[in-house]
Amino acid sequence: NRQWLLAERPKGEPNQDTLRLSEADIPEPGEGQMLLRTEYLSLDPYMRGRMSDAESYAASVEIGDVMVGGTVAQVVRSNLQGFQPGDYVLSFSGWQDYALSDGAGVTNLGQSPDHPSWALGILGMPGFTAWAGLTQIGEPKSGETICVAAATGPVGATVGQIGKLLGCRVVGIAGGPEKCAHAVDDLGFDACIDHHAADFADQLAKASPDGIDVYFENVGGKVLDAVLPLLNDHARVPVCGLVSQYNATKLPDGPDRLNWLMGLILRKKLKMQGFIIFDSFGSLYPEFARQMSEWIEAGKIKYREEVIDGLENAPEAFIGLLRGDNFGKRVIRVGQK
Ligand code: NDP
Repeated sequence: NRQWLLAERPKGEPNQDTLRLSEADIPEPGEGQMLLRTEYLSLDPYMRGRMSDAESYAASVEIGDVMVGGTVAQVVRSNLQGFQPGDYVLSFSGWQDYALSDGAGVTNLGQSPDHPSWALGILGMPGFTAWAGLTQIGEPKSGETICVAAATGPVGATVGQIGKLLGCRVVGIAGGPEKCAHAVDDLGFDACIDHHAADFADQLAKASPDGIDVYFENVGGKVLDAVLPLLNDHARVPVCGLVSQYNATKLPDGPDRLNWLMGLILRKKLKMQGFIIFDSFGSLYPEFARQMSEWIEAGKIKYREEVIDGLENAPEAFIGLLRGDNFGKRVIRVGQK
């Protein structure tokens, strides 16, 4: 049983010393337990927070513990009612080949789900995040302009596509021309601006001639700087993530613009609201699942996944995710030897 353990807390970007690969015996399920074999491991930006001991909404991983993560697994042996060998499950098994579970927090996906790994993306946590953050906090109205960065990732791509279904103008922001072309040509965004471009802020302003009514905040940093002056009166800002800052070791150099920002919020009557998906909106999950399945079945929402083979490659793939190397939802196909 290969396991990635947290070896040390990263300072800045995680590196090859952050996690350590270890071997353990495959555990035997006891009374009221089942043995799960991990098929897919989800890689998500929040994992950077779990590596750190800074204050957060969830506990950090302890040094020497298995790195946490959402997984799609198959039941190998089961002493639990409701779970048969061969069932696919959505679990939180972490970065390892096998795990024991007592069934708590585990969803049975059945013996032959169409796309098992989608439970980690469009039909799971990131898709739900996009839907709930946009509809519950963003409250977009037909004809308004929505702006979202990390536009080809599982959250951003879904925000933009839902925005189009609701009749909005959607302006994406992504890293590089290939991602931007995908957002416009395949996902149906009205425009997508490359944040690496030297004149990024000007391009964003030109792509938003009527200003921005909903800014779905995924990244922070210089993207946020470029968006703030474009916000309309009464704009809504669901604060979902700040991925450009997750490896930061200190606040950016001055000048201190906190009071300028508060003035902007006041004058423009902005609503900015943070949320932690299951904590904030957990009770809406069934509504999301029903709606999203319908949209996917009708071909109204597209989903791009990037599968990387081999649990051994998970740390490098995770480091790359925070740099924007991923193109679509990044998952590891674990592939036990
Ligand atoms: P993605 O798969 O989109 O991966 C992160 C992306 O962020 C990268 O691919 C990159 O895309 C972009 N990025 C990284 N650094 C920068 C930077 N300096 N400036 C601009 N963009 C950058 O991630 P997800 O879709 O899974 O998550 C998106 C956001 O949603 C994250 O902030 C995440 O933490 C947050 N989240 C929050 C939840 C909540 O409950 N609040 C739940 C789930 C996710 P590109 O190359 O296009 O710039």
